[in-house]
Amino acid sequence: MIKNHSYLDFFPYPVFRVDQQEIIERIENGARLRKNILLSAPNGMGKTIIALSALLPVALEKDLKIIYMCRTHAQSDRVIKELKKVHDNSNPYSSKISGLSIRGRGEMCLHHKLLGSKVSPKEAMSICKTLRSDKRCSHYRNLEKVTEGFKETESVSFSSPVDGEELIEFCREEKLCPYFLSKLLLKEIILNHFYLYLDKILVVLKLILI
Ligand code: SF4
Repeated sequence: MIKNHSYLDFFPYPVFRVDQQEIIERIENGARLRKNILLSAPNGMGKTIIALSALLPVALEKDLKIIYMCRTHAQSDRVIKELKKVHDNSNPYSSKISGLSIRGRGEMCLHHKLLGSKVSPKEAMSICKTLRSDKRCSHYRNLEKVTEGFKETESVSFSSPVDGEELIEFCREEKLCPYFLSKLLLKEIILNHFYLYLDKILVVLKLILI
């Protein structure tokens, strides 16, 4: 098997914790063989950096995206924090590493009608749709303008991975819609793990849950 990259190019810490190196190697090798891998490990093992270090070399070689599904926003942000460390320590590959943690429309929206409201995702989608079609959302219109109709994704880019809060703050300052910007920028995708159980995603991942 020809390997252009190794987890050693991406692991950002000076030393491995107990068993970390062996687990990373097994996951990296399994991913190259397109195997499904289940790791159950206690807190403090460093599961996030294990997964990132093992999968980034494979993703870069095969030009793939990593979809990292978490249960909470805090866990998603933790992934971005680790990805930033990888990014800052993995010269000359840093420029190829990007990542974004996303949230639901209701939590990312900056329009005063939805901002801070507790509407359901379905209602948020409906309100957003109406605001856009009536051209009453300036954040959406601004994003449309700077990206030349959502075609020019390079016009808004980040030099390192960003978490949901950072993306919202950036958009607040630039008066852009964070939700639609996140959809444009998606490279590594991080989302709540319950999406894993949606039929459409199970089909794509060729998984069967019993
Ligand atoms: S386009 Fe974005 S900012 Fe505007 S209403 Fe929809 S989610 Fe909110």
